[in-house]
Amino acid sequence: MDFYRRYLDRLEPDGGFDCACGRRHSIGTRQVLAGEGVLGELPALLRERHGSGLRLWVLSDRNTEAAAGARCKELLASWPLSGKVLPGKPKPRPTLELAGELAREAADRSPGLVLSVGSGVISDLGKKVAHELGIPSWCVATAPSVDAYTSGNSVFKGHSRHQTLWVSPSEVVICDLSVMATAPRPMFLSGLGDLLAKFLVHLDWQLSARISGEYLCPEAVRTARESALRPLGLLAGPDSLASPQLLASLTDALLTTGFLMQSMGSSRPASSAEHTSSFIWEIAELVGNEELNLHGLLVALASRFVLEIYREFYRLLPELAVDVPARVRALEAEPSWERGLDPGMARFAEHMRSELSAAELGPAAWERRLSAFQREREGLGELAGLVFRDLEQGIAALRGIGLPFDAQSFGMTPASAYLPFPHIHLLR
Ligand SMILES: [Zn+2]
Ligand SMILES: [Zn+2]
Repeated sequence: MDFYRRYLDRLEPDGGFDCACGRRHSIGTRQVLAGEGVLGELPALLRERHGSGLRLWVLSDRNTEAAAGARCKELLASWPLSGKVLPGKPKPRPTLELAGELAREAADRSPGLVLSVGSGVISDLGKKVAHELGIPSWCVATAPSVDAYTSGNSVFKGHSRHQTLWVSPSEVVICDLSVMATAPRPMFLSGLGDLLAKFLVHLDWQLSARISGEYLCPEAVRTARESALRPLGLLAGPDSLASPQLLASLTDALLTTGFLMQSMGSSRPASSAEHTSSFIWEIAELVGNEELNLHGLLVALASRFVLEIYREFYRLLPELAVDVPARVRALEAEPSWERGLDPGMARFAEHMRSELSAAELGPAAWERRLSAFQREREGLGELAGLVFRDLEQGIAALRGIGLPFDAQSFGMTPASAYLPFPHIHLLR
């Protein structure tokens, strides 16, 4: 059974359920239609939930209009429709300014619901527009490329950081697999590449819970991993991309990850150091090969780099006994990170300052964490072994369908590819 369906089935009428982690998780999405030809059910579902005659504001771009937008408008011909078709090329840049413009434009038409037809950018913009107007949004997904459809946040590109804003999640998400099957190949690769992050999350979230006491939902961390393993396990060479089972299982993994983020109220179940690095590459415009400049592909490449770095570190763990007082003294004596900051990272200095101002630092926190590290060292080593195997197999499967894993293919020099990594602890 699909992971996302199992999740939805547990929800009580208020959209929440009591989890074994001790918290009550709730989500705002009420329904997901996923399967071949489900788009045809749109008018009936809309009538069932909102009656007929609701004013709809439809957001798409040139490409997604051709993929499903025009068909939605045909299906909804008897509804009062307005909307916006953004240009397809260059791809619309997801900025808060654009979201604001669209919200003003939509407000003039006084819609009762926003219908987004597209993938990550359109879905994020649509959720934000609906949130601004205080009305619900629905989403028709056109590609298995992102986990944004069921998430409760929208991500916008700023000058020095990605801004993640919490918005009302889409009330209904429609994944017509016969529409999504026609998405360009890089969109499939992007969705698959993004899944590698779930393995690093499996390690980093548990590490942070054990060392810093961060809240952890064991079920969320397990579900994220298992839902990612399934589609990656179906990959067997380039032809496997065309398999309907692969599309269904990839869509399931992306929907599930979105739900996990929505219910945790954070991106913790989906992203870790690899996402931070890929965001730096994007914002600093370091990726020279436009064709590969897609979120999930950058995440996949960054995951591979993190794997190499982690392998080195975790290999040292068995011998890495820590003299806690000496280490705390050494940390206290360290010069400020701002001295000698790599000029390539200068634009992120403000971001780092704000992250660090919220972090728990100082001798007492260091001592507590280092002592926890001493205690947990062995268990962390075992956990890392499992995660590295997952990642290695995932990378091999993606290589097998033609995804490159070297900086050069992405049009990055070794120096620019390396840039974010020494700074990740300052960036999140
Ligand atoms: Zn992602
Ligand atoms: Zn939980």
